[in-house]
Amino acid sequence: MERTLAAMRHRPIPGSSGLVRPMTLLGDPALHAPCGAVTDFGPSLVRLVEDMYATMYAAEGVGLAANQVGVPLRVFVYDCPDDEDVRHVGHIVNPRLVEADGITVRGPEGCLSLPGVEAGTERFDRAVVEGVSVTGSPVRIEGTGFFARCLQHECDHLDGLVYTDRLTGLRRARALRAARRAPWGGPA
Ligand SMILES: [Zn+2]
Repeated sequence: MERTLAAMRHRPIPGSSGLVRPMTLLGDPALHAPCGAVTDFGPSLVRLVEDMYATMYAAEGVGLAANQVGVPLRVFVYDCPDDEDVRHVGHIVNPRLVEADGITVRGPEGCLSLPGVEAGTERFDRAVVEGVSVTGSPVRIEGTGFFARCLQHECDHLDGLVYTDRLTGLRRARALRAARRAPWGGPA
């Protein structure tokens, strides 16, 4: 069925009622500690998810974890294409990476918490994440290609890891040097 204007009016755009929150940057303690499970499914969780969408869109990102806006809870949002250009939009609460397999691919990866920095990072080509929605209903997200990369990247955030933690040797040194020299003044 074709999308009509009336149908679109009745479908809220994620983040349209949200406020853009300040982004935590590499070196902020919130980014480097594991997040806790969500236990309160009240209005503040709905507000957090709306604000995270708004913040992700304002930064033109494809995914955002709660600790990137300084909230140490296991939540992420995404609006991300896969390698077939299929768009995936959603949020997940208390996600668990239940499957990550297939070939590993080293591809360019960046992060809203290290703006302007990019590095070839190895990820599995397929990932499955399970959790719940803001209302507590079960959610299962399956991704391949770039979207699988995004799912692994966001799950890492909730465990207190940034993608540079996955890099080794020269690749890691180069990325951290670029972060230090970036205009936002990365850590020493
Ligand atoms: Zn990130």
